[in-house]
Amino acid sequence: MRVGIMGGTFDPIHHGHLVAASEVADRFGLDQVVFVPTGDPWQKTGSAVSSPEDRYLMTVIATASNPRFMVSRVDVDRDGPTYTVDTLRDLRDMYGASAELFFITGADALNKILSWKDAQDLFDLAHFVGVTRPGFELDASHLPEDSVSLVQVPAMAISSTDCRRRVEDGKPVWYLVPDGVVQYIAKRGLYRKVDNI
Ligand code: ATP
Ligand code: MG
Repeated sequence: MRVGIMGGTFDPIHHGHLVAASEVADRFGLDQVVFVPTGDPWQKTGSAVSSPEDRYLMTVIATASNPRFMVSRVDVDRDGPTYTVDTLRDLRDMYGASAELFFITGADALNKILSWKDAQDLFDLAHFVGVTRPGFELDASHLPEDSVSLVQVPAMAISSTDCRRRVEDGKPVWYLVPDGVVQYIAKRGLYRKVDNI
């Protein structure tokens, strides 16, 4: 079993995430890609993040139609800040020793990988796949060569930050995120400006 793991805040999940997962799945012959929304994203403290439940549900909606895409609640259900090493340990326990794990991450996150908790253990738990994304250069020279692969995904200049801003400004996010996610954002009133009157 070859399993991709795509961690993210997914606030909201967008087509950049989905294309990256699809491209890596094809390239590495993955049987599944598990999307893992973060619980409390410690690197994003200070900025308001939507509730884990909203982010989890948007991820389910976005991946529902793909039989190879799954969503895991391990990070949402674990107390405290989300660390990738805990995510990988939980999924390793779940899938068993014979599974090959591929952690998929954007160039921006991979660049910071050595600052993560228990960084040296990460490479024993999974193979790392860094996906390039417009605007982020990837310098993998400081990373162990046989544990990290780089994959170019078709250029998609989509970010969650931009999607949130667009909703706040009343601009459309159609076709940047899956249709069901557009509707979920509207239904829950996410990313709208809060009037402090
Ligand atoms: P934000 O703007 O809030 O930081 P984001 O768009 O970076 O959000 P995250 O949930 O932080 O989304 O990203 C999860 C993972 O997906 C990260 O590893 C990130 O680098 C990667 N990623 C995000 N957008 C893209 C994209 N357009 N193409 C490829 N990978 C992406
Ligand atoms: Mg990001």
